Amino acid sequence: PKPHAGRIALVTGAASGIGKAIATRLAAEGACVVIADLDLEKAQAAAAELGTTDVAIGVQANVTDAAAIQRAIDDAVLAFGGLDLVVNNAGLSLSKPLLETTEADWDLQHDVMAKGSFLVSKAAARVLIDQGLGGDIIYISSKNSVFAGPNNIAYSATKADQAHQVRLLAVELGEYGIKVNGINPDGVVRGSGIFASGWGANRAKTYGIEEEDLGTFYAQRTILKREVLPEHVANAVIVLTGPELSHTTGLHIPVDAGVAAA
Ligand code: NAD
Repeated sequence: PKPHAGRIALVTGAASGIGKAIATRLAAEGACVVIADLDLEKAQAAAAELGTTDVAIGVQANVTDAAAIQRAIDDAVLAFGGLDLVVNNAGLSLSKPLLETTEADWDLQHDVMAKGSFLVSKAAARVLIDQGLGGDIIYISSKNSVFAGPNNIAYSATKADQAHQVRLLAVELGEYGIKVNGINPDGVVRGSGIFASGWGANRAKTYGIEEEDLGTFYAQRTILKREVLPEHVANAVIVLTGPELSHTTGLHIPVDAGVAAA
């Protein structure tokens, strides 16, 4: 059987982009998947693409709302009988320079990504500890958690917060057999809602190029000269949560075609 067969996964922000690619790949590997996102219809539509409700369900959950997260976790346990794997993927990027970043911008970025993933990890850890079977928590952080991206102080700071949550929880949850790892993507243009919703236009302006050329632009500035797609991030989730890396926790792996190495 496939290593992920029968495992139960919850992916936040999985109605689109990288999260949807992760949910799709987990389902292809045999996992049962809960797609949690802001919009119930979008979440259910994404789940329906993966198969029947025996395989995937879509639930409405704003990750800034502890009660909504608890309902999503409860739904996973109710629908599929437990929980094994959680992916903190929900996010957004306002992409503004310091002097244009308002307090509300700062709060929104930190609410969704720093507080949101803390709340999700906390609710998930409670179930994983109770089950006593270990498990995996993955954070989709960013290259910007370590390196300065342009015009993005609030986003990058909250991604750094997520990176430290990975280290802290890897230590704290290790005794329960729960592994906590992070992934640092960069330059995922095609298939990313973040880019479609304004980030792409902003980035294109920053680099002085047309928005439709961003994918090629990002590929050209990588070491490997390859465009990073949501599927490449999903590959990393499968490997990090699979049996071959059973002894790896607290790690961040870049999925950036080499940008962070340069
Ligand atoms: P996306 O916009 O396609 O996906 C983000 C999803 O999160 C959307 O479906 C959105 O509805 C959901 N979401 C937003 N706020 C939410 C909330 N409060 N509660 C629940 N769901 C919420 O963008 P993406 O590029 O696929 O980004 C996914 C993750 O990857 C984000 O955390 C992002 O920061 C990270 N990331 C992306 C890139 C990239 O190059 N695209 C690079 C590094 C990191």
